[in-house]
Amino acid sequence: MKTRAPKAVLYDPELRSVMVRALYGTPLAIPVGMAIATTVIAACAGITGDLNFALLSAAMGLIGAFRLVAQYLYRRRQSSISTVAFERLAYAGAWATAFTMSCFGAYAVTAHADDRIATLAVAQTIGYIAGIAGRNSSRPFISNVQVTFAALPFAGALIASQIPAFVVIAGALLMTAMLTISSSNVIHRVFVSNFLKTRDLQTMATTDSITLLLNRRGFIVEVEKRLASRERVHILSVDVDDFKKINDTLGHDVGDALLSEVALRIASALAPCDKAARIGGDEFMIACGRASDEVATLAARIVDLFEEPVSIANATLSVSVSIGVTNATGESVERALKHSDLALYKAKFEGKNRWLSYAPEMSEAYDNRVRLEKDLSKAITDNQMTLHYQAIYNLRGRTIIMCEGLLRWNHPTRGLISPSDFIPLAEQNGFIKILGAYAIEQALTDAMTWPEPIGVNVNVSAKQFHRDHDLVGIIQDALRRTAVAPHRLTMEVTETTLAEDKDFVIETLHRIRALGVKIALDDFGTGYSSLSYFAELPIDLLKIDRAFVGSIAISSKAKSLMKAITGLAGDLNVPMVVEGVETPEQFDAVTRFKPHGIQGFLLARPLPKDAIDLIIDRRVALPAVDRPAPSVAHQDRSSAA
Ligand code: C2E
Ligand code: CA
Ligand code: CA
Repeated sequence: MKTRAPKAVLYDPELRSVMVRALYGTPLAIPVGMAIATTVIAACAGITGDLNFALLSAAMGLIGAFRLVAQYLYRRRQSSISTVAFERLAYAGAWATAFTMSCFGAYAVTAHADDRIATLAVAQTIGYIAGIAGRNSSRPFISNVQVTFAALPFAGALIASQIPAFVVIAGALLMTAMLTISSSNVIHRVFVSNFLKTRDLQTMATTDSITLLLNRRGFIVEVEKRLASRERVHILSVDVDDFKKINDTLGHDVGDALLSEVALRIASALAPCDKAARIGGDEFMIACGRASDEVATLAARIVDLFEEPVSIANATLSVSVSIGVTNATGESVERALKHSDLALYKAKFEGKNRWLSYAPEMSEAYDNRVRLEKDLSKAITDNQMTLHYQAIYNLRGRTIIMCEGLLRWNHPTRGLISPSDFIPLAEQNGFIKILGAYAIEQALTDAMTWPEPIGVNVNVSAKQFHRDHDLVGIIQDALRRTAVAPHRLTMEVTETTLAEDKDFVIETLHRIRALGVKIALDDFGTGYSSLSYFAELPIDLLKIDRAFVGSIAISSKAKSLMKAITGLAGDLNVPMVVEGVETPEQFDAVTRFKPHGIQGFLLARPLPKDAIDLIIDRRVALPAVDRPAPSVAHQDRSSAA
């Protein structure tokens, strides 16, 4: 195996600190080794009464004490001594020991050649050299000098004694020393090259290949390290708004280039105490080591950095990010990441392009959502879902022209839950497909009992338009099964439907229309691009949002807008229904525009099937607009204004 340890890597601080750690890594070796050496030399002094042995023994004891203090300081790591200084202390201690040991051997074979003491010294010194070879062989510099110091004076004295057995021992000793030096060089090279390879692998495993920031794993390690050393740390979850749309429409190359640009912008706002990572997809995270108020400044700065559009491959993209921030100090990593994600979720929910700090209420709301989500999956099978109907009246005849089906969830412990609370949840976890199919089935089943001219409207969520979901098939089956004439069914969609897979949505709407079913554009006037959808969508009915109707009786601006919309709808030959008419004043103001239909609490609230049946059967008087709506129209608890 070819191994290489370029000189420069020895100055790599990480490698160096690993190697120094190895020097102090066997805490018992120094006290035991030094105690044996000191005792053996002291024993020689005792046996022979030679003062020089006593001096050598004292020197060995002192060196041992020095090495023990160095080891103690290193292990406590509380001193201000650097790694390099500790390395030098280790060198000095080892070399001094080797030299003293060799002097002991040399003196013993010179001054006591005929004593058994000489044998003792030979055994001790050779044993010592063998010991060094094992312990320090990964550090050639230290062990080579050590072996040389230990072998040379001693071998010199053995040869000088001219005793044949000693000369042979000297030859063997020098050979052993040379072999030790060469094998220790090889071991060292293998050690360094393995260290570098392992580190490369570790770097690869913790780096994101697109942005070269840390990846999720590396980020968690980083945060864990900071938390373990009780450092102050805030986590920022940064998410690119509507990234999926960019990726889907402009392709993955543009998506990747955008991620790199986002990474660069984020990095430009960071200080040395901050560390950024791409956690996955379009989500980035930052571990920030600054004080709380500076963290807020950082979050605001990153949001601002995206005011400038991003240029990629001749295209200019307007990009924004949302950020969730949490103080992770003293938390577990999992909790901290969850908290910053909850804050991010809320920032998105509140309109994106902003940052928010985590608050405990977010966790409560999340737990609530999780519980509700669990219950939701049982709601249909346990018959907790029903459809209520709100009548939509024709102006001239004052008769019901259609009824809008609105979902109600009768929760066993929480009572009636509003669709505004559970529809977004169902949209998130995909359950909306089952819920939507239920609404279509139920609406058509209920409409079977109504007289022919009365239509039924069903709301459809954007999430029901999915390539792996057969919405058209579901509608077709329900129509076939109930034998309700297709023209009596209207599907209500909002402009958010077009946000994701526009071409597919438009194609699906055409296929629904081909069945003979009508399409209504719901909540018109709330979106910002409403008008453009006129041209793109196959629309049979326009439903003007109630937010817009709220001010019509008092605001001349609202009146002018209404006039413009009415004109447009008239030109395009699309009938209009005005939603949310609550007062006789609004009713008066609205009727002047001669809409096709009017819907609102003034005329009827959403009602259970049997209550709407009573109105349809005319067994209950028609609501009059110039007096309060009949009491039956107030049964629906969840819609209380
Ligand atoms: P939407 O489609 O705009 O439905 C009309 C909402 O306005 C209903 O709220 C209705 O009760 C309320 N409303 C009607 N007239 C008045 C009025 O005069 N004043 C006031 N303040 N409100 C009025 P609801 O039933 O709580 O439904 C809320 C939303 O939930 C619906 O808004 C719709 O977006 C969604 N939704 C309901 N059922 C379904 C469904 O089966 N599928 C889907 N995808 N969404 C549904
Ligand atoms: Ca609707
Ligand atoms: Ca609506």
